[in-house]
Amino acid sequence: MREIDHFIGGESFSSGDRSGDVFDPNQGQVQAKVRLGTAADLERAMDAARAAQPAWAATNPQRRARVMFKFKELVEAHMDELAHALSSEHGKVIADAKGDVQRGLEVIEFACGIPQALKGEYTIGAGPGIDVYSMRQPLGIGAGITPFNFPAMIPMWMFGMAIACGNAFILKPSERDPTVPIRLAELMKEAGLPDGILNVVHGDKEMVDAILDHPDIKAVSFVGSSDIAQYIYSRGTANNKRVQAFGGAKNHGIVMPDADLDQVVNDLTGAAFGSAGERCMALPVVVPVGEETANALREKLIPAIAKLRVGVSTDPEAHYGPVVNAAHKKRVEDYIQMAIDEGSKLVVDGRGFKLQGHEKGFFIGPTFFDHVKPTMRTYKEEIFGPVLQMVRAKDFEEAVRLPSEHEYGNGVAIFTRNGHAAREFTARVNVGMVGVNVPIPVPVSYHSFGGWKRSGFGDTNQYGMEGVKFWTKNKIVTQRWPDGFVDGAGDKAAFHIPTFA
Ligand code: NAD
Repeated sequence: MREIDHFIGGESFSSGDRSGDVFDPNQGQVQAKVRLGTAADLERAMDAARAAQPAWAATNPQRRARVMFKFKELVEAHMDELAHALSSEHGKVIADAKGDVQRGLEVIEFACGIPQALKGEYTIGAGPGIDVYSMRQPLGIGAGITPFNFPAMIPMWMFGMAIACGNAFILKPSERDPTVPIRLAELMKEAGLPDGILNVVHGDKEMVDAILDHPDIKAVSFVGSSDIAQYIYSRGTANNKRVQAFGGAKNHGIVMPDADLDQVVNDLTGAAFGSAGERCMALPVVVPVGEETANALREKLIPAIAKLRVGVSTDPEAHYGPVVNAAHKKRVEDYIQMAIDEGSKLVVDGRGFKLQGHEKGFFIGPTFFDHVKPTMRTYKEEIFGPVLQMVRAKDFEEAVRLPSEHEYGNGVAIFTRNGHAAREFTARVNVGMVGVNVPIPVPVSYHSFGGWKRSGFGDTNQYGMEGVKFWTKNKIVTQRWPDGFVDGAGDKAAFHIPTFA
């Protein structure tokens, strides 16, 4: 059985006898064991990070950027290998796995411009002979704790920005698909990153708690489910760390009566069922406005769902593959039963789906519910599977209210041809990321990513200039260079706060 070890100080490191199962979701079998680390393993990574970080921080930003350029080249050269490894542990289809790598790489591209992003501000003559300038300095050692559903993209969001800013980094990836994060660290080394700047430690709560309690880790970035995000935020900030913690989601797609329904059906099937619904920016809730829109949309959705091909993740024709493990498959199927019990109308049932030759695989067919009510538990909670729920809104006001009042506030989309409606919606909706005729509005790398309400704890987003801000401290210098001698020392001392007036 393949064993997946930590990556510390530029090399593979194994210790301890606790391990977790990594599944092949296509076959429903364990394919590898991942080491579950301890505080002692973290300390080893911290030793490596402490030893390497000062020299890395002192390396000029242009040289740090060159490592990112080289890393980008290497990731592109290894794209097929990375996508296959990712797909074999996560279950997303190869094209989608490449997208996972690509969206992370776009943040690396932003990090290639770090010299520009780190430039400070300068005011000449802020007072008589006085200049004021600012500089962004790295925090020291930062950590990232990442979810299973984007094992390439989210680690790159975090370590790309943190390392380019001059920090050392401890990555604790999901224990469900840990192979790609390790490969990325190896490629960073190959790109010229000094040993000890990027360390990968595997583990579960024990390792996470060690990270949260470690006094030398100055900042923690987390992405995962909301209860854990809240826990990470509370414990990390109680230990005086800077913390950003992004949580779960329940994104709504509002369909106005004037929307192009064929486009909506295409966008919705992709955004609701792609990656088996295991995306924080999936669209699992559709909100048609008015009965006529709802009925027309339902008629178009049913045959489109019937055409979806569920297959092994290496099947180039498959729209989506299995979910990540047996426990998650059961959780999603339990939600389907709960939705029926709560009174939603089951239109397409994906339970009991079996793929010939892969009967033990963790597959779930696409599932579609109509007449879902906001009071239902299955509406309020995140299902994170290939399940689309239709909530009928009577008018625009109700359609704005539903996502605004939902406890999650990650993403939302509106489909319409009416610019005024879109403008009103984007201004008023209480959600962090909004798409207008764009079903999955994950912002490009030079903007930034972050949900609101229970989808995000903390006040700084991922990547872009927000990422630079999160991974650095701002130092502001007020300087004066006297032009000669001061006569009568002490005579001119000022005892009031300087005003530079
Ligand atoms: P998860 O919360 O189970 O795990 C995330 C990380 O937390 C993992 O590294 C895991 O090892 C660790 N962890 C799990 N239980 C823990 C505990 N009790 N104490 C300390 N650490 C613990 O999430 P997941 O199932 O891997 O990922 C799916 C979730 O992530 C979904 O809720 C999804 O919406 C969310 N997500 C959010 C975003 C976003 O940007 N908002 C992006 C991707 C995924």
